[in-house]
Amino acid sequence: MSVTTDRRSPWFIAAADDDLTIFDRSRPGRRAFTAPTLDVPERPLDELIPAALRRATPARLPEVSEPEIVRHYNRLSKRNFDLDTGFYPLGSCTMKHNPKLHERIAALPGHARLHPLQRPAAAQGALELMWSLQQALGEISGLPHVSLQPSAGSHGELAGVLLTRAFHEAHGQQRTKVLTPDTAHGTNPATVTMAGYDLVKIGTDAAGNIDVADLREKATDEVACLMLTNPSTLGLFEPQIKEIAQIVHDVGATLYYDGANLNAIMGICRPGDMGFDIVHFNLHKSFTQPHGGGGPGAGPIAVSDRIEPFLPRPQVVRREDGSFDLDHDRPRSIGRLRGFQGNFGVFVRSYAYIRSLGAGGLREASEVAVLNANYLLARLREEGVLEHLPAAYPRLCMHEFVLSGAPMKHELGIRTLDLAKRLLDHGVHPPTVYFPLIVEEALLIEPTETETRETLDRFAAIVADVLREAADDPEIARGAPYSTPVRRLDEAGAARQPVLREQF
Ligand SMILES: *Cc1c(COP(=O)(O)O)cnc(C)c1O
Repeated sequence: MSVTTDRRSPWFIAAADDDLTIFDRSRPGRRAFTAPTLDVPERPLDELIPAALRRATPARLPEVSEPEIVRHYNRLSKRNFDLDTGFYPLGSCTMKHNPKLHERIAALPGHARLHPLQRPAAAQGALELMWSLQQALGEISGLPHVSLQPSAGSHGELAGVLLTRAFHEAHGQQRTKVLTPDTAHGTNPATVTMAGYDLVKIGTDAAGNIDVADLREKATDEVACLMLTNPSTLGLFEPQIKEIAQIVHDVGATLYYDGANLNAIMGICRPGDMGFDIVHFNLHKSFTQPHGGGGPGAGPIAVSDRIEPFLPRPQVVRREDGSFDLDHDRPRSIGRLRGFQGNFGVFVRSYAYIRSLGAGGLREASEVAVLNANYLLARLREEGVLEHLPAAYPRLCMHEFVLSGAPMKHELGIRTLDLAKRLLDHGVHPPTVYFPLIVEEALLIEPTETETRETLDRFAAIVADVLREAADDPEIARGAPYSTPVRRLDEAGAARQPVLREQF
């Protein structure tokens, strides 16, 4: 079996290196810094920290020099795949480029070193930035009232469902069910269950839209909310969104917008105008933030007037005299969702992104995201890829599209997972696999607006290459990857029982 791998693959840089842990590198007495000589009188330790609060034995910390620390973590960082290394078309995750300018702005001392317990009077700049971001998100979503507190999209979902409950309870209603389409992201049903509601799934019709007849049947006065993303996780815009909103509102339920796919519609249309009551944003997706193991995100929510009284507290507000403040006086609020005011560094980067692009720039980003996805789909068709990996719903897509690897499995003998693993040998991060669940052997591809035409062409050529190789010898893809620091993992086991170091 001859296995060809791209020798320029980023994996090769690191794969040759040794596997020592930072503790293996430790030698007693080695230090990464030299403390200056004490120039104040030394006080006895007991006076500084009472003996009862001190540990009996020193913490087991690695004792290493600074170059060793730098090399160790630098080497580890190269054993991973990241956006700054190569193409990362991970559908639903919007792995767009994160402008480096944002890092400089977020690192300014006034941003990076601000204490979260600082008094509002002494943190006016930070509060103004948060308030301005709220205004921008309100405008983008078409829903005027924003809370920045939730720490991620899923946290925003939970906030949204708790707001829904507070809204119904304020009207003396106890509703028990929440509807989601069967294409929904896993966090939607998880949120529903966590909030104590029963989940009811709505089907998808032959064209890939939500099955409106099924929705009509299941929309009863026991339903608290319908959670929807538009475009859907199939990368398709719901043309019947107005009718869907009408059905949901007619039974007194709220309509929740999962904003993970906002990258397709920024500046073009607004969830509030479609009839949604509550929206979450994934700032780390649409509004640039290193994520996916790369850093924290944020999942602000925006809501309509009727939901506003229940928003989390405190709210960032502008007082009549033009100063900014934290408003804790919100008697009907669902309360706090987390400590402090949210992931501030994330707000700075997303605000920088929104301000540097402006309204026209955001719209252009979405237009190019949709263009790139349709271009890539067309290139894959030209390369003959769609013969074995057809589009699950062959129509104009939005910012991402779903292929089905079912024919590939039967005709070439390789599964979507094998293709994904083989892409790693070509220095490309695989697309999302096996999601949405309703598409057999699904491959969800999202190129984003930040990739060049050459990168998209190269990706299409690589996928075509892997399929040709599989037609000759499917065992090659089945055994992939060959060039990565680790080969195939037991993925469920790796997540549930990670072995973080070898046992000696
Ligand atoms: C990413 C995603 C979520 C969850 O967002 P997190 O920020 O990862 O918690 C929800 N729905 C969809 C469609 C997503 O892609």
